[in-house]
Amino acid sequence: MTRQFFVGGNFKMNPATLEQKKGLVSLLNEAKLDPSTEVVIAPPFLYLIPLVESIRKDIKVAAQNCYLKNVGAFTGEVSPAMLHDAQVPYVILGHSERRTLFHETSELVALKTQAAIDAGLSVILCVGETLQERESNRTVEVVNEQLDAVIAVLKESDWSKVVIAYEPVWAIGTGKVATSAQAQEIHAEIRKYLTQKVSPTVADGTRIIYGGSVNAGNCKELATQPDIDGFLVGGASLKPEFVDIVNAKA
Ligand code: PGA
Repeated sequence: MTRQFFVGGNFKMNPATLEQKKGLVSLLNEAKLDPSTEVVIAPPFLYLIPLVESIRKDIKVAAQNCYLKNVGAFTGEVSPAMLHDAQVPYVILGHSERRTLFHETSELVALKTQAAIDAGLSVILCVGETLQERESNRTVEVVNEQLDAVIAVLKESDWSKVVIAYEPVWAIGTGKVATSAQAQEIHAEIRKYLTQKVSPTVADGTRIIYGGSVNAGNCKELATQPDIDGFLVGGASLKPEFVDIVNAKA
């Protein structure tokens, strides 16, 4: 099966001003983007609806988080049903910043994933190990554990709505990108795990993208690897070089 190349831009809690956001939108609206790449950008919640309206139609929009209930007394939360209602098709879940800073467990991430899919959203599901876990040779174990929670709740058919982002925590925002061999090794392990625990069809069809200090200079080499189906880009998604990353396969 050929998996469509996928590039996501995770703006995190950036940009600081509406003016800067408008600049990013016009840059993307005017850019020449590889039509065979699926492009998704994730601004902070506040900017989602204006972005859905102002961004070109071949770029999709994602939220950076959501809750697991659709309505009710959950101060400060945004529900999957609300995102769907606002025509936001994707949500990023399980980002390491949410796991670490906001104490989200793999079980919570799994429940959110299920709720998002049930509400009609697609999910960019982030997994990845810390430096300490890598140095103690626990990378595969940690990533598989993070996946286990999600595997336990999803039906086989739900997996068509999931893109897995392998993001080693030590590579996020550090400028220390995984080598293409390091990333390929873990992507292949993830695909093998999906084969064993879900099905060969799901393993073959699921996009596994890499995130962690991806930039215009390293994306082409990473994109040559057979199990790297795209990228989740943080810092560089706020810069003109994001266009080069979208075009990494062109
Ligand atoms: P980075 O972030 O590209 O700035 O390393 C990636 C991410 O957090 O998704």
